Amino acid sequence: MRIILLGPPGAGKGTQAKLLSRKLGVPQISTGDILRIAVKARTELGRAAKVFMDRGALVPDELVVQMVKDRMQLQDCANGYILDGFPRTMTQAHSLVQILAPAALPQIAIDLEVAEDELILRLSGRRVCQDCGFMYHIEFAPPSQPGTCDRCQGGLFQRDDDKDDAIRERLKVYRKETKPLTDFYQKKGLLRVITAEGNVEDIHDQLRKLLVKEGIIGQA
Ligand code: AMP
Repeated sequence: MRIILLGPPGAGKGTQAKLLSRKLGVPQISTGDILRIAVKARTELGRAAKVFMDRGALVPDELVVQMVKDRMQLQDCANGYILDGFPRTMTQAHSLVQILAPAALPQIAIDLEVAEDELILRLSGRRVCQDCGFMYHIEFAPPSQPGTCDRCQGGLFQRDDDKDDAIRERLKVYRKETKPLTDFYQKKGLLRVITAEGNVEDIHDQLRKLLVKEGIIGQA
């Protein structure tokens, strides 16, 4: 099964993809995470992507599509995967159709809907551990000691693209480039929608029920 998680930045795609990945035993493919690793390692891809990411713009399609194709070649993708943050443009969506066409694999696209005020609150308060990558929120999920990771004692920082101007840009880009993908998947009969407000476990539960209803996973 190929699960595509759609939804704006801050909708919780990464959090839900991780939970689903554990539940289904298939990997999460997060283009944002792969790009951030490349930026940190200062690879050629990372250097090319950083300028776009820091200002909240999208990384060019050809770089991202190739990166996803490479990732899907790995053995752990043989039984499926959860796409988190890809596709994000119509060009990427068309590329994905071509990638998946030869195998005619079952797919479903799930749109996580969240009101824009809530997204801004979530993104602007987000802090990330520089060592282990664990995420906190200064209001909703604060660390016990401000600025320090509970898990590994690493320092917490705010991603450049979680700063106000970049958040505004990311939401603008989302409305223009990514939101139209919901129509694209709707017309194919593949779109399902979930209201992703409330706590993480409740949203995971809604997703789980949806996947049971769709016959993708069993009741347990
Ligand atoms: P995310 O963590 O998914 O919000 O992604 C962080 C940033 O990585 C985005 O703001 C983009 O700059 C870049 N990025 C992630 N996925 C894609 C994609 N599918 N296409 C283009 N850029 C992407």
